[in-house]
This record gives sequence, C-alpha cells and structure tokens, in this order.
Amino acid sequence: MGSEINFEKFVSRKLLDLQPYSTKTYDHLIKLDAMEMPNDTTPINDLPVLNALSDLELNRYPDPNFQALRKKLLLAKNLDSSETDVVIGNGSDELIQLLCLLTSNDGQGKLLTPSPTFSVYKILAQIHGLRSYEFNLESESFHLDISKFIEEILKIDPSLIFIASPNNPTGNRLVGGDIGKVCEACDGLVVLDEAYYKFSDKSYIDVIKDFNNLLIMQTMSKIGFAGIRLGMLFGNNKVINLLNKIRLPFNVNAISQQVGLEIVRGEQFIEKKIKSTIEERVSLIDQLSKFEGIKVFPSEANFILVDFQNYDAEIIFFQLLESGVLVKNVSGQHRLLNGCLRITVGSEAENREFIRIISRIITKSQS
Ligand code: PMP
Repeated sequence: MGSEINFEKFVSRKLLDLQPYSTKTYDHLIKLDAMEMPNDTTPINDLPVLNALSDLELNRYPDPNFQALRKKLLLAKNLDSSETDVVIGNGSDELIQLLCLLTSNDGQGKLLTPSPTFSVYKILAQIHGLRSYEFNLESESFHLDISKFIEEILKIDPSLIFIASPNNPTGNRLVGGDIGKVCEACDGLVVLDEAYYKFSDKSYIDVIKDFNNLLIMQTMSKIGFAGIRLGMLFGNNKVINLLNKIRLPFNVNAISQQVGLEIVRGEQFIEKKIKSTIEERVSLIDQLSKFEGIKVFPSEANFILVDFQNYDAEIIFFQLLESGVLVKNVSGQHRLLNGCLRITVGSEAENREFIRIISRIITKSQS
C-alpha cells in the first residue's frame, strides 16, 4: 500500500467536514421511512412498461434532450412551450444540485429555505459554496409566516429559495396563492418543490406563466417510481436553457425516459393508487390520534409527523426497528422536531401491522 493521501492538500475543509445525507438500508422490514409507495400499490406491473422497453436500442446513448418525455410532460401539464420548458433530472436531487450550481456564483450565492425542511437543499448548497440561511417555521403548527418570510427575503437578498409544499418532514402546505408575493420579493430563483402535491391535490404549476423566476419541481419518486429516478423542473424557457447548459449530457437514461412516458400515459391509473394512499393516511392519523401522550400533526403528504411527547422517540424508533418496522427518526434534525418520528403511509396491511406494534410498544412503556 502507498503512503496516506493528504486530502487536506487538495480537498476543501468544507467538504472534508460535510455531514452527508444519510441513507440506511435494512432487509426484511416494513419500510415506512422514505415516502415510497408500498409494493402492492406500485403500478409497474399494470402499465405496459415492459413491452415498451423491449423496443429500446440500449446500444445507443439516450436522447440527450429527452424530447418525447419533455413534450408529453408539457402537454400533460398544459404548459405553453413557447414560454415554458421542463428539464428532467436523475431524481429531483439532481435538479436541486443543478440549481445550486447555477446560482453559486463563485461563492457569492445565497440560499434561503424555511426550516425544518428537506435536508438535501442545505447539503447541496454547502457543497456548491452557497451561503445557507434558514427561516424558522412557527413552533407547534409549522406554519410559514409569509409576511415575515418576505421581510427576510428583502434583508438577505437570496439567489435561490426552496419551498417544499407540502413540506418534508412536517407534512403541511407552506405556501398557497402567496407564492406570487415570494416571487415578487425575490430577485433570485424561487423553487416550489411539489414532490408531495399529488397527496394534497393542489399544484401551482399554472402560476409559472406569471413569474419568470418561479420554478416548479415535481418527481416520479413519490407516486410509485422512486427506482427510476426521474425529477422534473418546470419554468421559464430562459432559466431552463441555463440549466440545460450546465447539466451533464445524457443525464437521464433510456429506460427511465421510456418508463417516464408510460407513467404520464398511465396517470389516471396512478391517481387511483394515490387516492387509496390518502384514505390510508386518514385512517392512520385517526388511529394514532387515539394514543395518549403523542401529538399527530395534520398531513397533506404520504407521511405523518408524530411527536412522542410523553415518550423517548429514540427508544420508540429502536423498538419499532427490533419489531421489524423502519420509520425515520427526525428528532435531533431541528429543535422544532425534538421527539418526532416521521412515518410513511404504507399499504393497508403494513399500516395495520404498524399500529399493532406501536400500540404494544406504547402500552408497555406506560406500565
Ligand atoms: N423534495 C422533497 C421535499 C423530498 O422529500 C424528496 C425526497 N424525499 C425529494 C425532493 C427528492 O426526490 P427524488 O427522489 O426525486 O430525488
């Protein structure tokens, strides 16, 4: 073996000290940690995807501009392609990365996000040298005070704002019709991350035409297709052109482009699956709310945030894990999330099993 590599010599301190996004994998679990659709509702077997794949020429590079999928998406979203366009990414994570790269501006860039929110925004901003500013949501309700947020925008003058609505991990919508006020106050780009909009049934995609700096981000991951890694960013042509200029060629592989087309074609079918997830969410909230000493937050997404007020969330997390259920421990991510676990809505059978196990754990902790 050669001598030790002296990373300090060529890797910045900022990157050496970076806390990466943590992803753990466990086998044979009821997996309620990552807002995926449960197995029994993933519509892949019900869409004619496999037939479509057999026509692909996998010896060739994919269409670098994903023209078929791009056109289909613009049409499906009813967007005027003379003003608006879409860039597709290897998941929305890649789009977040591109946006940070675009606005980093040789270390002058500034990111503003409501907080707590999806942690990848801040991590990617750090990697790309943007200074990151957080605006706290209100405690208890996780409400975003829009007038104060606008004051903050005017003070900080950010080059990039991400607002996830519905927000992860709080589950509530952060902004509605007020998105226009945010766009007017901000000289930089405003990204409304609609990863979970299907579960709240409200998209602001039609507002794009009114604000040149507004971008709407959506993903196939939460509607049953996390495995194909397809994220979409809709916005003004000029902004999308810039993002296309800096993205890697062939960033979306041929299989994902083809499956993506089938998903857009099978939209109605997917709607049914979403409806059943929403019904499961209502039922899960209802059952969890019956336990004493825990607070269940309202949700417009496919997950539920629960504050285990009278218990130790960390212990509950590990007891669930020992019993075969994986949820996300978000306690410790932010002071407003102390004692909180985030639970993805699973299939009916998974949710039933989860309730049986959590009920046993809570009863045992009380005795
Ligand atoms: N935005 C939000 C708010 C998310 O919660 C997530 C994933 N948990 C993403 C974006 C990333 O989605 P994708 O799988 O498309 O990269």
